[in-house]
Amino acid sequence: MISGQPVDARRVAAALGGRSVVLVGMMGAGKTSVGKRLAAKLGLPFVDADAEIEAGAQLTIAEIFERFGEAYFRDGERRVIARLLNSGPQVLATGGGAFMNKTTRDTIAAHGVSIWLKPDVEVLLARVRKKSNRPLLQTDDPEKTLRRLLYERSPTYALADITIESRDGPHDVVVEIALSRLAEALCRDAEAGAYGRRKVEVPLGPRAYFILIGPGVIDEAGAEIMRIAPGAKCAIVTDANVAPLYLGRLTASLEKAGLRASAIVCLPGEATKSYAEFARVSDALIEARIERRDVVVALGGGVIGDLTGFCAASLRRGVRFVQVPTTLLSQVDSSVGGKTGINSAYGKNLVGAFHQPVLVLADSSSLDTLSRREFRAGYAEVVKYGLLGDRNFFEFLEARWREVFSGGPARSEAIATSCAAKARVVAADETEQGLRALLNLGHTFGHAFESLTHYDSARLVHGEGVAIGMAAAFRFSRHLGFCSGQDAARVEAHLKTVGLPTRIRDIPGLNAGAENILLAMRQDKKVERGRLTFILAKGVGESFIARDVEEASVLTFLREEVQLRPD
Ligand code: NAD
Ligand code: ZN
Repeated sequence: MISGQPVDARRVAAALGGRSVVLVGMMGAGKTSVGKRLAAKLGLPFVDADAEIEAGAQLTIAEIFERFGEAYFRDGERRVIARLLNSGPQVLATGGGAFMNKTTRDTIAAHGVSIWLKPDVEVLLARVRKKSNRPLLQTDDPEKTLRRLLYERSPTYALADITIESRDGPHDVVVEIALSRLAEALCRDAEAGAYGRRKVEVPLGPRAYFILIGPGVIDEAGAEIMRIAPGAKCAIVTDANVAPLYLGRLTASLEKAGLRASAIVCLPGEATKSYAEFARVSDALIEARIERRDVVVALGGGVIGDLTGFCAASLRRGVRFVQVPTTLLSQVDSSVGGKTGINSAYGKNLVGAFHQPVLVLADSSSLDTLSRREFRAGYAEVVKYGLLGDRNFFEFLEARWREVFSGGPARSEAIATSCAAKARVVAADETEQGLRALLNLGHTFGHAFESLTHYDSARLVHGEGVAIGMAAAFRFSRHLGFCSGQDAARVEAHLKTVGLPTRIRDIPGLNAGAENILLAMRQDKKVERGRLTFILAKGVGESFIARDVEEASVLTFLREEVQLRPD
């Protein structure tokens, strides 16, 4: 909170520890004026990225745009910012479009603290009207263009570490606010760093959002939601297992930040992803007067996340939603990617929508109350990210899985690495046209086992099916000559070490023959027009999509697998 006391700028400069302060935001937001004053207070040099670019090119920005086009300018801008930030601590003002570039955002995050100067629209218009040299505003209706740019860019600017809403006040006031917010953020960072706090961006352009990971992040929900939706009404949807554990803390955090909160509690279990619950929760949200500017918060596992996300997607044609996932599976899988939905009598997840959350808070210590079996099942999905495309991560898990299970800093790291891996795939293929299929490693086999055990969670939960499926995918890859027997054995050994099943014989009472398993695989919705698509591997961390796999070789392989059963 901003206190009346002026902040000691020297202490803030020391806490920066060699990092820079980077100002982002629209043209005319006051980045240069505020930046110069802030730099003087912090005893750091002030650098204006646009001025550097102009000096380097011996041309004005408008001329660079005119002669070479925007893409050329953006590329140069990215390089100049990287060079500047590599040259030591400073206060850097960036051009309006710079922060839109993911590489630039990563460079800024690696070298400094970012501040979004968010001006009042009318003030911005007045300031910009006075200047006519902004290349992006050389249009028939500059005001309309500015409003559009602001609308498009705001969600990305909001990814900055600090947001300062400025009215048309004196710059010195903004500088004081910046100093106090910096002091606050640096102190929080120092605490967070000590506890293994992580932040992962899901880079989806205007739908980009952050996943905040670490012990105790539930208690920051209020402050974090205030940044995105100041003054919003919040409706929390949760289940009856999670409510007694975490609802009180979440509500307290929201109320402490001055947000009004109400709660809707569902029955735990997959049956809650139903038309009936969808209707009941949607009506309860309407009754709670949740409107477009408000926020729906999902507190619980994947069931609550999927149902709540779908309610949020359709309520008033879409309201904002925040995920607070409390199972390992939901933290590393269902809270990334924006798939929401419910089940139909015809199958799982058949009715739904893509609706991205605006924020995810993955409290790694909330997993301490999860049953060992649920934790392990989620861990299978964590291992999946290593097997897919990150051999180093798989090796990290082999070495530090105990700490992941017991809740040390390796747990947050494993969650963050998993989220980042999924985010990369999702960003490349948001609506599942191709690449996203890689995430189904182990799932074609796994879904068949789930279906053959009639989704009876007493016999097999999803993650266990995936564990057997991944081990099988590696054995199948070896059978087809893609990967070595050593790698297949290594995958199986790690899954076994943590207590996950790896063979069909590990499923209690499953007596299906190879033909039945193949039939169940054909019915999986991921099977396209009768062709079998598998995710196979050339080795640990080297998975690929194999379409048109011959049914005959699948059958031969499955016969071998089934024979490994002891009866
Ligand atoms: P879940 O939500 O049913 O949670 C498992 C159990 O753990 C429940 O009984 C729940 O009440 C309890 N629980 C949750 N958090 C707890 C905590 N911290 N301490 C103690 N108990 C706790 O199951 P799940 O495994 O989290 O999610 C499975 C669902 O996720 C499925 O419906 C699946 O379809 C969906 N899913 C969605 C996506 C997606 O991209 N949207 C991806 C994968 C899975
Ligand atoms: Zn899965």
